[in-house]
Amino acid sequence: MQKKYVYLFSEGNATMRELLGGKGANLAEMTHIGLPVPQGFTVTTEACTQYYEDGRKINDDIQAQIMEYIDKMESITGKKFGDKNNPLLVSVRSGARASMPGMMDTILNLGLNEEVVEVMSEMSGNPRWAWDCYRRFIQMYSDVVMEVGKKYFEELIDKMKAEKGVTQDVDLTADDLKTLAGQFKAEYKSKIGQDFPSDPKEQLMGAVEAVFRSWDNPRANVYRRDNDIPYSWGTAVNVQMMAFGNMGDDCGTGVAFTRDPATGEPGLMGEFLTNAQGEDVVAGVRTPMPIAEMADKFPEAFKQFNEVCATLEDHYRDMQDMEFTVEHGKLFMLQTRNGKRTAKAALKIACDLVDEGMIDKKQAVAMIDPRNLDTLLHPQFDTKALKAATPMGKGLGASPGAACGRAVFTAEDADAWNARGEKVVLVRLETSPEDITGMKASQGILTVRGGMTSHAAVVARGMGTCCVSGCGDIIMDEANKKFTLGGKTFHEGDYISIDGSTGNIYDGIIPTVDAEIAGEFGRIMAWADEFRTLKVRTNADTPADAKKARELGAEGIGLCRTEHMFFEAERIAAFREMICADTVEEREAALAKILPYQQGDFEKLYEALEGNPVCIRFLDPPLHEFVPTEEADIAALAKAQGKTVEDIKNIISSLHEFNPMMGHRGCRLAVTYPEIAKMQTAAVIRAAINVKKAHPDWNIVPEIMIPLTGEVKEMKYVKDVVVATADAEIAAAGADLKYEVGTMMEIPRACLTADEIATEAEFFCFGTNDLTQMTFGFSRDDAGKFLTAYYDKKIYENDPFAKLDQNGVGKLMKMAVKLGKETRPNIHCGICGEHGGDPVSVEFCHNIGLDYVSCSPFRVPIARLAAAQAAIKASK
Ligand code: PEP
Ligand code: MG
Repeated sequence: MQKKYVYLFSEGNATMRELLGGKGANLAEMTHIGLPVPQGFTVTTEACTQYYEDGRKINDDIQAQIMEYIDKMESITGKKFGDKNNPLLVSVRSGARASMPGMMDTILNLGLNEEVVEVMSEMSGNPRWAWDCYRRFIQMYSDVVMEVGKKYFEELIDKMKAEKGVTQDVDLTADDLKTLAGQFKAEYKSKIGQDFPSDPKEQLMGAVEAVFRSWDNPRANVYRRDNDIPYSWGTAVNVQMMAFGNMGDDCGTGVAFTRDPATGEPGLMGEFLTNAQGEDVVAGVRTPMPIAEMADKFPEAFKQFNEVCATLEDHYRDMQDMEFTVEHGKLFMLQTRNGKRTAKAALKIACDLVDEGMIDKKQAVAMIDPRNLDTLLHPQFDTKALKAATPMGKGLGASPGAACGRAVFTAEDADAWNARGEKVVLVRLETSPEDITGMKASQGILTVRGGMTSHAAVVARGMGTCCVSGCGDIIMDEANKKFTLGGKTFHEGDYISIDGSTGNIYDGIIPTVDAEIAGEFGRIMAWADEFRTLKVRTNADTPADAKKARELGAEGIGLCRTEHMFFEAERIAAFREMICADTVEEREAALAKILPYQQGDFEKLYEALEGNPVCIRFLDPPLHEFVPTEEADIAALAKAQGKTVEDIKNIISSLHEFNPMMGHRGCRLAVTYPEIAKMQTAAVIRAAINVKKAHPDWNIVPEIMIPLTGEVKEMKYVKDVVVATADAEIAAAGADLKYEVGTMMEIPRACLTADEIATEAEFFCFGTNDLTQMTFGFSRDDAGKFLTAYYDKKIYENDPFAKLDQNGVGKLMKMAVKLGKETRPNIHCGICGEHGGDPVSVEFCHNIGLDYVSCSPFRVPIARLAAAQAAIKASK
């Protein structure tokens, strides 16, 4: 049977998102619930994947199906494609499963040509409208289908406005627009070398192809990588009959949210423009009016729109983001979707929906994107400093958070400055999808034009980057990289601070402070904790980090990298003496100097954790990382050791390794120098005994973790050293202390022989940084150099060091857990590589039966929420 690639809106529904994309599925759903939707059809995501399979060609079968559905649209609407007297004009819009900025968005008024526009102009008695439609169509088609570039057309419009002495597009007359259409076509011909297409079918296939093509543009690829959207999904295309918002002052177009997407406050929030078409509102070309003003302009349509909003919220049980058009006072719905929102709004909306009885706690927990929480955990302006500061200007608070950095004026500069380690605020007239990487590289974004739904605002909110938009007081000179505000001129590199909640803009630096978990955040987190089974620990080496992580809900330390404790001045000297020692006695003498520091550090960690588990990993990095490089330090070490500078230099060069990450590190250090493990064991056990003495009610069970095990005999060797030392310490203190000795699982061989390793190891903790490195066989430090080529060639879709490679590394983990449990059924297993704070990887960890994930302090809430969502999903 022939595959069906096209569906009328009346044939689909909301559950068909995979096939019809989000926009298509919701247009179908709105059609079914009887809302006023201009009718049309959706070309499926499968048609897009087929397009790529066919070598970027829309095959004859798909083309024929599209044209068959144009016929169906013609019968539904009573209009005809390309007909002079009663033309069917359509919009063509992309619509992937998940909404994706960066892809081609919309082409309006498709189906127009010189003949049709002439007749339409005459018959409607509204030539201005007809020519406005045509010039818009040429402009959009040239830009998005043929990639001519917007700026040529904008320059022509600006020139025309200057000649006519007007400032707004709406002030241009029918004749002006007709002239512009002619100029646009000439521009098209000069750039493309062919006449602008007049055949509606050719226009339509060109537009559909442009949507498919945009699925693979660099901006879309970056967005997909950041948002876990697989390339294989493809995008759908929606072809919909036009409703016209540009037919006069009784027409208009708008975008609205059923609740405030920045704060979550209930109540309609949006923007509206009269006598305009869709793109005008989001493009920020004209500054729109607040939606409430629609009540006066179009009372009937506004009343109906409010009812539609209530119906949609009730139907989808979530805040909706809608686009609509009013044509001669009549409302048409063009789109609805669950609205993108700030983290703050996401939490408030979820809690409010529970309180309103619309959803239950599980649904509330499941509806929040864990990655979004990041923004809430990031610094805000210090209140005192903020009070003392006077804003020099104000725009719209488009995406909350505080940003402070040096002004840059192009996305490329933002990238370049960021690469040099500078914090920057990107200042632009307005942003466009090309700016996406520069926006990501910025602490904040400030735009002169555009409302709350402008590109800058929407994208910044999605990225969780602070944004102030639409500050019209800025006098911008992008060409010379400067702007003037509040009487002062700012050049590239000058510091500014912006507040994405209030929209305030400040001269200079305002210090920031950390955020805290309270209010709705606390409520959602408490609900998440009810549902999750996976524990969440933190990777922390200092009591301050541990304290922060505890505040954010960490239930223990999953990884304390002890080597980070050796770098302070007095300690590093003793450590270097240890490295350069000739005999065991010399080494022990140096280690004895380090022991009290190490014990003190551990005591502070046990204090901070108040009886929750603390897993301490023994020395891991290759020793050459600790040796001095400066002549003065080498001389000082020589003196302390009673050696010559020459001797020390020889020792240092003897530590050189060709492949240090696969060299003398991890448990191999303890095999060579067991006295290091002895010292570390003594420090752990003494610290635990001391803290337990002060807090007898705390359940302190030290977890000692051996790094980089690959063979059970080496594990046993090191464990025996640890056990002998620990038991002797406990006996000497007359204490009663239990402890555990386990291992990092970060070498493929350890996973493959996990049943053997588990005969010795009492716990496993997957070090997926090294495990990824060793499984792929490429360096965790250098892979960045070639991964981009792998992304470009679609060999990898993600950085395997950020997102767990479930097929390979994950398979090893799964196998290791299974084998480990066969030997030791109660073995506890965790993960402490970077993946422990990545939501998708956390879900995988839940599914393979790990007991905990451990991540950096600020990712603890993200992991808690992700763990809850994994449990909810698995229970379904
Ligand atoms: C790991 O390898 O995943 C790990 C946590 O250890 P480190 O990053 O210190 O090598
Ligand atoms: Mg490691």
